[in-house]
Amino acid sequence: MPTRSASAAALSVSALAELISTLQARGYQVIGPAVRDGTIVYSPIERLEDLPAGFSMEQEAGACRLVKRNDGAVFGYAAGPRSLKSFFHPAEIKLISAERDNGTFRIVSDAPSPPRTAFIGVRACEIAAVRIQDRVLLEDRYKDTFYETRRAHAFIVAVNCTAPADTCFCASTNTGPRAREGFDIALTEIVDDGRHVFLAEAGSAAGKELLRELPKAEPAAELRKAAEKALQDAAGSMKRRLDTDGLAQLLYDNFDHPHWDDLASRCLCCANCTLVCPTCFCVAVDEASDVDGRSAERWRRWDSCFTQSFSYIHGGSVRHSPKSRYRQWLTHKFASWSDQFGTLGCVGCGRCIAWCPVGIDVTRELAAFRTSPAAVNSQGGSHD
Ligand code: SF4
Ligand code: SF4
Repeated sequence: MPTRSASAAALSVSALAELISTLQARGYQVIGPAVRDGTIVYSPIERLEDLPAGFSMEQEAGACRLVKRNDGAVFGYAAGPRSLKSFFHPAEIKLISAERDNGTFRIVSDAPSPPRTAFIGVRACEIAAVRIQDRVLLEDRYKDTFYETRRAHAFIVAVNCTAPADTCFCASTNTGPRAREGFDIALTEIVDDGRHVFLAEAGSAAGKELLRELPKAEPAAELRKAAEKALQDAAGSMKRRLDTDGLAQLLYDNFDHPHWDDLASRCLCCANCTLVCPTCFCVAVDEASDVDGRSAERWRRWDSCFTQSFSYIHGGSVRHSPKSRYRQWLTHKFASWSDQFGTLGCVGCGRCIAWCPVGIDVTRELAAFRTSPAAVNSQGGSHD
């Protein structure tokens, strides 16, 4: 039966293929999940077959493994190592080039304009992370114009998460598994009893307009119920939890807790956690010139509070020990971020747990401060 409203619809798998081709026809570069290098990452998508149908990822502390599913679900996996941060706030970006010209330097603007991009398969936690980066990079005192141009024309097709990994805890941070805002279209995939269908809901005028063009059916009440149940089951099945009550004060009160030493004895300061984190935004700026002195470039690259050079100030690093660097990261994410930006710096995606080579788990580490609070507050004292 044809649907009367374009706000919600039931889409078949072939309609998903049409969604991709319609976005391409409108000039979007389509980015979606794909199997690459033994995991599932956002990559350019040409057709439906590029999506990871029948694949999932088992994720645990320090481990991520690609596995087969037996139901052919297209989006039956949780967040992979790459987030939308890689696209809106790229790992490296050339800020300027300069060339010597008659005894002076001429700035050459050679940065190509970023393509209009449509993202498919975006999880609720990732949309929450984008909102956090918007707050930091667009809505504070200074605007990051590189971020702004990449973010401005993005079309987002969210997929409500029905298959959280063992590392996920977005239900605790109230950032998933259902996407509630910040998308153009949200899909909930239902695969059961021989059917494979998507409940599609429009979240913007552009999403509604695009949905109108796709072959679809009126979503039956039963489909809506199945989608609701799948999301409730997903939230209930999350194995990790984070108690956010009084978390900031807990960290402020435990600046000298012995657990920081325990953490420092395990942390390699490799920075993986900050690089995979969809909200971490810190960068460093480097300049390099040609050996003949005729040209120079200025690059911006992701940096991390786990590197010693990150806090280098005229003659030394402020955070010279792994303990001080780990404490900075955790306290910023779960305490001072709220003071600065009004939310936690964490959306519960679990990436830092899976991609930490020694399996450090923020949910467990934070719980450790609750079980044996030291209540020794040196108020900004030692940085050891
Ligand atoms: S701190 Fe860890 S769980 Fe939280 S958003 Fe960053 S990567 Fe995800
Ligand atoms: S917590 Fe893990 S991922 Fe982060 S810097 Fe330490 S060892 Fe690396």
